[in-house]
Amino acid sequence: MRRRQIFAGGIALGALGAPAVRALVGPAGAVTGVAGVSDTGPGSRLAPFRPRADQITAIKVCLRPFRAAGPRLDVEHVAGKTVIHNYGHGGSGWSLSWGSANIAVGKAAAMPDRRIAVIGCGIIGLTSALTALRAGFDVTIYARDLLPHTRSVRANGSWTPDSRIALTAQAGPAFADLWEQMARYSWATYRDYLGLPGNPIEFVDSYVMADAPPEQEQGPDLAKPTYTTTGRPQQSAEFAQYGARIRDIIPAETALADGTNPFGVAWARHAPLMIYNFGAYGHLLLEEFHQAGGRMVVREFHTPADLGALPEKTVINCPGYAARDWWNDDSVIPVRGQTAWLPPDPTLHYGLDYRGAAMIAKSDGVMIQGYDLDRLGEMAGVGNSFEHPDRAEAERAVGVFADLFSRSQAWRG
Ligand SMILES: Cc1cc2nc3c(=O)[nH]c(=O)nc-3n(C[C@H](O)[C@H](O)[C@H](O)COP(=O)(O)OP(=O)(O)OC[C@H]3O[C@@H](n4cnc5c(N)ncnc54)[C@H](O)[C@@H]3O)c2cc1C
Repeated sequence: MRRRQIFAGGIALGALGAPAVRALVGPAGAVTGVAGVSDTGPGSRLAPFRPRADQITAIKVCLRPFRAAGPRLDVEHVAGKTVIHNYGHGGSGWSLSWGSANIAVGKAAAMPDRRIAVIGCGIIGLTSALTALRAGFDVTIYARDLLPHTRSVRANGSWTPDSRIALTAQAGPAFADLWEQMARYSWATYRDYLGLPGNPIEFVDSYVMADAPPEQEQGPDLAKPTYTTTGRPQQSAEFAQYGARIRDIIPAETALADGTNPFGVAWARHAPLMIYNFGAYGHLLLEEFHQAGGRMVVREFHTPADLGALPEKTVINCPGYAARDWWNDDSVIPVRGQTAWLPPDPTLHYGLDYRGAAMIAKSDGVMIQGYDLDRLGEMAGVGNSFEHPDRAEAERAVGVFADLFSRSQAWRG
């Protein structure tokens, strides 16, 4: 996710790291949001957080399904079926899920058949299936794994709608418009899940900190290798930023006064951040799916021709990163990331971002993500499909916050 955006476009405080150097400056170079307004209030109310590596209960690894042109949403005719693709949402799948589902189901609505097969039960498949049920379709999900065992639940789980979603040049202006449509639709839909028992979706106070004010990041250096010359993203600045388009609906950030904020760091910003509590939200979606009459079949597909055996004529294809293998789509590029989980702590109700690590206190545990510990920006994890946990990385990420809290006067005594 991308912490920079809260400042660039008033979006979320999402883990991002080095690209946060773009943070304070909007696309036209103007200072955005309410930067400069001092406020020591929110931070001073925080309960202390003293993480220890020996408290880690799980390390989860995920591959972001990144496509340079943005998610695949086109329609193909294969094995006698109309296949509507809905995959390749990079680091933004949770955030854009409802909007993307709405586009896919809109395409299905043009088909005469009222029965739909949805392939995949990650967050994209499940929201596509629910959207189709709400539109009156008869829906069956076919998937190898159901939501609790998909890559989706190995994510960070916060509002990060343009985190490694596309490359600016390859996606072009048409995708920017589509992105805005998806982001606005998703944001509005998520509001329906706020304030419910168990807090499936909620807002927490989130703080982005740095040891020095970030500098403005420039566009890609065209004298150096780029996606155009190599077929792979090569520079952080190639990744698209669309946050400014929706700053009218996303809470703006507040600057905490330099040197006087309770974190004891030179630079800090606060904003409310929307988060997804995977357990509560996942159960709610699955329950809603079954109550609305949806069916689930556990099945693995090996080639697109396997679709020929399905009774449905219309298929919404949501395999996430697995599209690389099962649909032979090498436009899907892996972007590795991992999260470490500590036991839930009900005294904490906030998120932090510092030195390439993010922490969010959630109902099902305290999530710590070393999203950019080596300060590579959006390049961290690009092209890396290694899906095994890296304990050393997890401990480094925990150490960032242990160190922050051991240094901060406000929490010592
Ligand atoms: C570290 C990390 C942090 C992230 N944080 C965030 C965040 O904070 N906010 C956000 O919005 N996004 C975040 N993301 C991105 C998000 O996790 C993904 O975009 C999203 O999970 C993609 O969901 P999906 O449903 O497309 O894929 P998946 O979750 O991979 O689901 C794919 C489904 O298809 C099924 N499937 C695949 N192949 C087959 C087959 N051959 N036969 C049958 N079934 C098949 C699978 O079993 C599964 O059910 C993060 C990603 C990472 C790696």
